[in-house]
Amino acid sequence: MTNDTTSFDTALPVIGHWIDGAPSASSSGRTAPVFNPATGAQTAEVALADAAEIDAAIASAQRGYETWSTFSIAKRQSVIFAFRELLNASKGELAEIISSEHGKVLSDAAGEIARGQEVVELATGFAHLTKGAFSENASTGVDVFSIKQPLGVVGIISPFNFPAMVPMWFFPVAIAAGNAVVLKPSEKDPSAALWMAQLWKKAGLPDGVFTVLQGDKLAVDGLLTDERVQSISFVGSTPIAKYIYETASQHGKRVQALGGAKNHMLVLPDADLDIVADQAINAGYGAAGERCMAISVVLAVEPVADELIEKITSRIAELRVGAGSSTPEPHMGPLISAQHRDKVSGYVDIAEADGATIVVDGRDFTVPGCEDGFFFGPTLIDKLPTTSRAYTEEIFGPVLEVVRVKSYEEGLALINSGAFGNGTAIFTNDGGAARRFQNEVQVGMIGINVPIPVPVAYHSFGGWKASLFGDSKAYGVQGFEFFTREKAITSRWLDPATHGGINLGFPQN
Ligand code: NAD
Repeated sequence: MTNDTTSFDTALPVIGHWIDGAPSASSSGRTAPVFNPATGAQTAEVALADAAEIDAAIASAQRGYETWSTFSIAKRQSVIFAFRELLNASKGELAEIISSEHGKVLSDAAGEIARGQEVVELATGFAHLTKGAFSENASTGVDVFSIKQPLGVVGIISPFNFPAMVPMWFFPVAIAAGNAVVLKPSEKDPSAALWMAQLWKKAGLPDGVFTVLQGDKLAVDGLLTDERVQSISFVGSTPIAKYIYETASQHGKRVQALGGAKNHMLVLPDADLDIVADQAINAGYGAAGERCMAISVVLAVEPVADELIEKITSRIAELRVGAGSSTPEPHMGPLISAQHRDKVSGYVDIAEADGATIVVDGRDFTVPGCEDGFFFGPTLIDKLPTTSRAYTEEIFGPVLEVVRVKSYEEGLALINSGAFGNGTAIFTNDGGAARRFQNEVQVGMIGINVPIPVPVAYHSFGGWKASLFGDSKAYGVQGFEFFTREKAITSRWLDPATHGGINLGFPQN
């Protein structure tokens, strides 16, 4: 399968939109560069939609909705099953596309596809999750029942770090429920969305039901304000999530806006420190720390900090960093861009200036043969003051910070005082402490000896506080609630003897 490319006045291909079930070249004249982060070379331009293209995308989706929403449950189900089969058969291609634009290693790209595929599989059973309810004889001869209907055209705006999985948190559910989707992918890795659009076409989805609109703030604002768009599902950084929530709400839309994170791992003194060190490495440095569920802070309840730092340090020495598609596969690839690498580096500077100890320093890190790649080495910071911006803000890179605390209570208070509430984990063999933690911690997703507790598809994904604006999480039962609206119907079949004649009082049972 190839990506849609059309030529502008440039030697590089221009990645375009997918509208009306076909590649759609852009004539906006605006583009953004797309890089291979491992080499640092620009590989393409991505189109940035203008007002006419935004309008064309939404208009096509509206037509797609009008067709798709009349399809029977059985017909819709057969399309979702076909999409699942095609995805399963060819996901290696998608992993390569993700790795080439995002930089993550191939097995990690395969992992994100597998987690997205789980949601597709959930969506194949949508008939069960979109059923209404029926109450017979609510009043004498009166039945009350509810039906769930799609919303119409729904917008999805996704971040760079999971170009396949995050859109798949939403679109299988939205489409199964009878909606038409306009997906605005991240302009940093725009090709995975087009690959998935081609797959929908092959699966038999009618044209217009899955649209890809490439773009920047202009495209996002178009979706947020157009009255034909009924809802917005957003995942990205907290300031943008807040903006999305406020703007889309002001325009009368349903919104779920998932934001940033700063996830803590609380290590109690009874935990097995070899297991903890392995898990801290996996959750801190996997995908170069560019995961919203990455662990960024290890809260070590003394006296374990020194021993744990030693174990983490020796494991860092074994990590292979390199291009995502190279063999043998490295553990970790580059960051998404040179700007982001410099931002991550700046946070390490801040930590140092604020008095922290840089135990392992990933600044000025190069990979032989990939000297221009956007690499940043695994970094370990100790004794970080919790007043430092390097502690309070999200870094989104391969930086693990150790904060030493005296007790469970001190660790819990630190987690609960943070701005974010996406994920957290406790490591202990004390069931009572773990149970207390799950009850007391102010975070949406909790791992008990599980460092990255991303819920399975039949539960729902979402954080608390600045990690989620809106009241609906992604996928699971909440996903189906978000993408449907309910009608309640009160029904009776009248006959002259029982209909009650004229009565102007308020209806009572
Ligand atoms: P981002 O907020 O920069 O971009 C996300 C999307 O918003 C992109 O499609 C982008 O084009 C668009 N956008 C960017 N600036 C905009 C603006 N000013 N106005 C309108 N739209 C704009 O996020 P990112 O850098 O792509 O992704 C990383 C962030 O996403 C991190 O903060 C990470 O924690 C977060 N994230 C959160 C979750 C979660 O589930 N909570 C999951 C993945 C990523």
